[in-house]
This record gives sequence, C-alpha cells and structure tokens, in this order.
Amino acid sequence: MAKTSKTWHGIPREEIPWFPTVDNDTCIGCTLCYVSCGRAVYEMQDNKAVVENPYNCMVGCSTCATVCPVEAITFPGRELIWNIEREHKIFKIVRQEAKEKMVKAEISNARSEAQAYIAQLITHARMEVAGQFGEKRFLIKLKDLVDERPYDIVNLQLDVPTVQGLKENTPAILSFEVTSTQQEDIQEFLSEIRTLVKENDLILISENNL
Ligand code: SF4
Ligand code: SF4
Repeated sequence: MAKTSKTWHGIPREEIPWFPTVDNDTCIGCTLCYVSCGRAVYEMQDNKAVVENPYNCMVGCSTCATVCPVEAITFPGRELIWNIEREHKIFKIVRQEAKEKMVKAEISNARSEAQAYIAQLITHARMEVAGQFGEKRFLIKLKDLVDERPYDIVNLQLDVPTVQGLKENTPAILSFEVTSTQQEDIQEFLSEIRTLVKENDLILISENNL
C-alpha cells in the first residue's frame, strides 16, 4: 500500500479510512474503475482491479462503485466522514480554505479580464496612402502629429511612379507603420492620421493591425 503525505482539510489523509474495497471474486476485470478514476487508485493485475494507492482516493467520492457493473466495489458508510468532520472540527479550516479559493478566483478573473483588455489593444499598425506628396507637405504634418507624443512612425517608404508617370501626376504610394512608444493603444491616433489623410486629399488604401 503506497503512503501519502496529503491532508484532507488539515487531517492527515492516512487517518481517514475512505477508499474502495474490491471483492476479488465478484470483479470481472472490465477495467471501468481503473479507467474512471483520475487519481491512480487502481491497478489491473491478473485481470482484476486492485486498490494500489488507497489514500489517493478523494474523500467522499464513490464514482467507481457507482459505475462498477457487478457491484464489486464497496466503501465505508457516509457516517465515517460525518464523524471525522465533527471530531476534527474541520469547518474553521474549511472556511479559511473557501476564503483562499475565492481570492484565487478573483485574482484569476482579474487576470483574465486584463488579458482580454490587452488582447484588444492595437499598438502597431501599417498604413498605405496614395496621392500626390509634392513638397512633402503630408510628411511634415505627420511629423507634427507625432511630436512630443507617445507614438512613432517607422519604416516609411515612398513608392514614386515612373518618371513618365510623375509627369502625368500618377499618384505615389506612401507606406508606414504606426507604433506606440509605451505599448499603449493607438486607435485614437490612427483616427487622427485618417483625418489628416482626408484633409490632404489623399486616399487611405490599406490599414492593417500588426
Ligand atoms: S469496475 Fe468492477 S468489475 Fe470492472 S474492473 Fe472495476 S471492480 Fe472489476
Ligand atoms: S472513489 Fe473516486 S477517487 Fe476514489 S477510487 Fe473511486 S473513482 Fe477514484
């Protein structure tokens, strides 16, 4: 019989005789208890279920007995647990455990909410703008928009048309990435850039979050 250092609400687990007993003659070796138990209480030996780690059994659980098709598994009566609860006055410990569980649940919920919030933040985006960029007017305004603010414009690239195209005023394409220098949301700033694009008679041809 394997020993354990576990406790049940402060009581050493080995002081609680709650575990299954298998009637070897009745067991037909179907393995259902072995498969159903998530605590490795059972082993199968010679096509019979054997209780190898009794103190791994969860106090109060009797699932394996419930599912055994030939009623080969028995447990002590529930009075055993009720008496232990009373004798060891476990409810002070149980209430403390409940408080700790609630705090953990609150922390876990807060963490999930924070992760959900961060997941919806946009901190990096790429834009492509088409139009006439003569005299760099738009670029200067873009620089003014960023000045002394927690944003940056990086990887700027201006694709100009052919010399022939230039003569015919074919639109050039300016692509750039917008980032937050403080890993904060840039959605409002992207909106300002869209307005700037419009005010300068340019066309926003693509915008992708990175
Ligand atoms: S569920 Fe019952 S019959 Fe099946 S292996 Fe376990 S003890 Fe034996
Ligand atoms: S009562 Fe539950 S925990 Fe205990 S051996 Fe059966 S299935 Fe496993």
